[in-house]
Amino acid sequence: MKAAVVRETPDGYVDLIDDWKPATLGFGDALVDVEYCGLCHTDLHCANGDFGNPNEMGTRNGAFRRVIGHEGVGRVAKLGEGASDYLKVGDRVSIAWFYDACGVCDFCVSGNETFCRKVRNAGYTVDGAMAQQVIVNSKYAVKVPEDLDPVEASSITCAGVTMYKSLKTGEAKPGEWVSVHGAGGLGNLAVQYAHNVFGAHVAVIDGNDDKLAAAKANGAEVLINRKKVDDVAAEVQKATGGVHTAQVTAVNAAAFNQAVNSLRPMGKLVAVALPQGDMALNIAKTVLDGIEVRGSLVGTRADLKEAFQFGAEGKVKPIVETVQLTDINDVIDEMKAGKITGRKVFDFTTL
Ligand SMILES: [Zn+2]
Ligand SMILES: [Zn+2]
Repeated sequence: MKAAVVRETPDGYVDLIDDWKPATLGFGDALVDVEYCGLCHTDLHCANGDFGNPNEMGTRNGAFRRVIGHEGVGRVAKLGEGASDYLKVGDRVSIAWFYDACGVCDFCVSGNETFCRKVRNAGYTVDGAMAQQVIVNSKYAVKVPEDLDPVEASSITCAGVTMYKSLKTGEAKPGEWVSVHGAGGLGNLAVQYAHNVFGAHVAVIDGNDDKLAAAKANGAEVLINRKKVDDVAAEVQKATGGVHTAQVTAVNAAAFNQAVNSLRPMGKLVAVALPQGDMALNIAKTVLDGIEVRGSLVGTRADLKEAFQFGAEGKVKPIVETVQLTDINDVIDEMKAGKITGRKVFDFTTL
C-alpha cells in the first residue's frame, strides 16, 4: 500500500512508496484504514531529521524508514487481541501526535499524559497516518464523532486540540483578551476556540493579509500586520490594554518577544510553536509584571475528545482543502514558504 516515509538521509521531503506494509498487530492494537491525513509543521521537522535521525531509532518492517503523519482519521478495519474492549470494526478514530504513553507514571495518572517520559508519537517514534493503513493503540486512539466532517476532524486531531489545550494552559476566560501570534494552521483554530468556545476577545498578529482576513472572519477583533507596523507590541497594548494571555504559534523567535511585550501585568505567555533557539525574556518585566511563561504540548485524550465535540457542534470549523498524496513534496514546499492558510489534507479515500 502507499505511504509517505522519511528519506533514508532526511532532507525535509518524503519518499512515496507503493509496497509499504504495516507491522503485525500487537496485543491491544487495531488496524485503521486511513481516510484523511493533514500535513503539519511537525511532520516537516520529522522529515528533516530535526528531532533526531529516524535511521537511528530502530527498524520497522526491516527498513530504516518512518511513515510521517499525525493528523490522521480513519476507520477501524481489524482488531488485534485485547482491542475489542475499546474499539470495534468500523469505528472512526484519530491518529494524533500523542500516540500512547506508559499509563502508570506521575504524569499519566495525573491527567498530564502528554508529558510521560515514555510517550510515543505517531509519525516519529511509531509509524504515522500518511499511509493507507496505520496501527493504533486501541486504548489511546480517540474516537471521532460521526457528525463531525472527517476532513475537518483531521485538522482538530493536531492543530485544533493543540490550541484548545493551549488556551486552557493560558487560562483564557470569557471577556478577556487573547493574542494569537501567527495566523496559520494553528492560529486560525486558536482564534475560533478563543472566540467561540472560551468567549474571549481576540487580537491576531501575522505578516500575511489573507491569513488576517481569515482570522477576522472567525471573530478576531484586532488585526495587526506585523510587516506594516513599527512596534507590534505597542499596537497590541494600544488596542487591548495588554492581553491576558498570548498564544505564540509563529515559528520565529521574534514573535515570542512581541508576545511577551503584548501582555498586561500578570499575563501568561503560552509557547506552542517550535522555532529553533531561545527566547529573550526580560527579567525585570517578568518580576515586576508577574509574567508567566508556559509551554503547551498537543493535548490529552480527554482534551481531544472535547476539541472534537466543539467541532461537531459547529463552534469550530477548520479551514481545510483536500489534496492528492502524489503532491506531498509540493505541499511541503508551500508549507515551508508559509503559503498555506489552514490545512492541506491528503485524501486516501480516492486511492
Ligand atoms: Zn501536527
Ligand atoms: Zn507515563
